[in-house]
Amino acid sequence: MAKDIIFSALQPTGDLHVGNYLGAVKNMVELQNSGKYDCFFAVADYHSLTGDMDAKDRREQIIQMSAELLALGIDPEKSTFFIQSEVPEHTELAWIFNCVTPMAELARMTQFKDKSGKQVKNINAGLFDYPVLQAADILLYRAEFVPIGKDQVQHIELTRDIARWFNKKYGNFFVETKAKLTEAPKVMSLLEPTKKMSKSYGDNHVINLADSPGIIEKKLKKAVTDSGKGSAPGAENLMLLLKNFADKETYKEFMEAGKKGQVRYGDLKKAVADGIAMYFEDFREKREHLLIHPEKIREIMGAGAVKARKTAGETMEKVRKMVGVR
Ligand code: ADP
Repeated sequence: MAKDIIFSALQPTGDLHVGNYLGAVKNMVELQNSGKYDCFFAVADYHSLTGDMDAKDRREQIIQMSAELLALGIDPEKSTFFIQSEVPEHTELAWIFNCVTPMAELARMTQFKDKSGKQVKNINAGLFDYPVLQAADILLYRAEFVPIGKDQVQHIELTRDIARWFNKKYGNFFVETKAKLTEAPKVMSLLEPTKKMSKSYGDNHVINLADSPGIIEKKLKKAVTDSGKGSAPGAENLMLLLKNFADKETYKEFMEAGKKGQVRYGDLKKAVADGIAMYFEDFREKREHLLIHPEKIREIMGAGAVKARKTAGETMEKVRKMVGVR
C-alpha cells in the first residue's frame, strides 16, 4: 500500500531556533525516521523573496538552511530534500491556485497582518499571496500531513480550502491536508514570553541551535521569568525548554521544587542553558563540517530536486489537462 505523504518547508531566512526545532523540525526528522511516510522537505527560497533580504545573503542562507536541516537529521536517502526554486512546478501551480482563491480569504490571514506590521516599507503582493504558494508547495506532492508550528495552522486550513475550490471547479483531484502539531507547537520569546519565539523580534528573543554554550547562557540570563501580573509565562516557557532538552531527572527536580514554590530562576536558567548546549553539541559540529563544502550541499540538494520534479511533473501534467491549457 502507498504510504501517506508528508511535506514541510522552511524559509532560508536565518539560523534555526529552538522554536522552529520543537514546533516543526524535530517532528519532521521523527516522521521521516518512522519509515511510515513518504517525506518531501524543502528549503523555501521563493518564499524568502517576500522579505527584505538581498541576493548575496539569500544565496548564503539557502546553503546554511540546507546544512542545518541535514545536520539535524533530514536524510536525503530517506526523504526527498530539495530547494523550492529548483522545482519550477511550485510557482506554476501557485498561479493556477491564485485563480481559484478569493482575495478576501487571503486578507483574513493573521500572518499577513503580522508580517506586514514588521516590514511596513515593503508590503509587497508576494507577502499577501505567499499562503497560496505554500498551498502549491504542499499539494504538488498531494501531501496528507504537514508538520509545522501553531502559527501556520491557518495556512493549512486555507490549503484545504484551495484544494476544495480547485476540486469544485475542475474535478476531484487534490487531497485534504492536515497539520501535524507537536507537544510544543508554540515556543515563546525569551524577552517577551507572551509572544511566540521569532527571530524577527531580534536575536536576544531566540536561542539559535548554532549558538555557542556561552551565548546560550548569556541569552538565558536575560530571559524574563515573571510578567508581574500573577502568571509567569516566561517561567513556563523555560520549563518547557527544560522538559525537552535536559535529562528527565533534572526536569523532575525542578517540577518538584515548582510544586513547593521553591524554584530559583537563576538555577533554572542555568539548567536550561546546559541542557540546550549539550543537546545541540553534535549538531553544531556537523553543521560546521558541512558548511566547509557548500558545493557538496548544492549537489545533494540538486539530486533531491531531480527526485521531487518527478512527482511534481506528474501532478502538473494532470493539472494542466484539468484546467484546459493542454
Ligand atoms: P520565524 O517565525 O522565526 O520566522 P518560520 O516562520 O521560518 O520562523 O518558521 C519555520 C517553522 O517553524 C514553521 O513550521 C513554524 O510554524 C515553526 N515555528 C516558528 N516559530 C515557532 C515557535 N515559536 N514555536 C513553535 N514553532 C515555531
